Amino acid sequence: MNALSGRKPHPLGTHRVIDPPGAMPQSAWKLDSTPVACENEMLCDVDVLNIDSASFKQIADACDASETRIAEHVRSIVRERGKMHNPVTGSGGMFIGRNRATGERIASLVSLTLTPLHIESIERVDVATGRIWIRGSAILFASGLWAALPDDIDENVALAVLDVAGAPAQVQRLCEPGQTVVIIGADGKSGMLSCAQAKARAGSSGRVVAVAPSSETAAAKLLREYGYVDAFVVADARDALDISEKVAAAAPQLADVTINCVNVPGTELGSILCTKENGTVYFFSMSTSFTAAALGAEGVGKDVTMIVGNGYARGHAQTALQTLRDHPPIHTYFREKYAATKESAR
Ligand code: NAP
Repeated sequence: MNALSGRKPHPLGTHRVIDPPGAMPQSAWKLDSTPVACENEMLCDVDVLNIDSASFKQIADACDASETRIAEHVRSIVRERGKMHNPVTGSGGMFIGRNRATGERIASLVSLTLTPLHIESIERVDVATGRIWIRGSAILFASGLWAALPDDIDENVALAVLDVAGAPAQVQRLCEPGQTVVIIGADGKSGMLSCAQAKARAGSSGRVVAVAPSSETAAAKLLREYGYVDAFVVADARDALDISEKVAAAAPQLADVTINCVNVPGTELGSILCTKENGTVYFFSMSTSFTAAALGAEGVGKDVTMIVGNGYARGHAQTALQTLRDHPPIHTYFREKYAATKESAR
């Protein structure tokens, strides 16, 4: 007998919801993370959590970047909620681990905000990349997406890429040859993959404009050196007037498509102002406020299409991994930054 006995397993995982009754796993406050698989579930031994960037930044700021305090903070969230669902940002992340039944190494492709998670111990926190090595287990529901880890890409690199897989896939869909594309937060994980996809789609007649707080990071230099971007704008995306004036100087016709990949709140209006009339803003950032975006666009009288950054797009995992394979300089950069193991990151 376990805590789930008597509850009928549901493919969407509602049988794991403890509080409030009737909620779906993502919106629930608390899940039952008993590490025993029901008949339609996959029980995984978890090694690494990739905490969503907006969530990790919030926790790291609240804990003064102390590894010990971050570990305790994460443990307390998981203890209380049965999942790594940051109550402040509302976001989660993903894990890598092993299917206990088959031994296969996998990465989850559904958010930690709906994944029952049980942590036995936290082995290490890497503040630079937002990864946490743990001993623990997680449950994937029958509906839960996952990917077998590829043989040709380091699994920590794959984890970093798969966490943001929705971004390059959506950029591939949204961008057209000849367009102007503005990528805000261009030197982060999703930003770099988005720049590569945007340049490939917009082509030589198009223009990709990167925006980041500094042009001196290794990622920013790489984007310029290898021609992934046509212009690099240094701006704080929270300063709507500053970013829009600088983007207008780099691309006077403004963006056909703006991709927001930042990990801080307050960048909705800046993104809208960088976009031309009838253009599209894709808010991949988890720090996006629907209210700020909707009222911000109305307030400045801008008729733009605004898209919520769905974490899932058909084939997104393969598109994201292929983006890395197609762009060796970005792959090398990701390898240097994310391939560290629990031991080598020390
Ligand atoms: P990341 O690697 O941490 O990159 C964040 C980027 O934002 C960095 O380039 C950072 O620049 C930049 N940035 C921070 N503050 C800025 C500011 N004030 N103005 C301009 N740029 C700023 O993050 P990521 O993993 O790519 O994730 C990006 C966003 O996507 C996060 O909000 C994350 O939560 C979200 N996300 C969404 C989904 C989804 O399904 N929609 C899935 C995963 C992640 P510096 O590094 O120079 O500070």
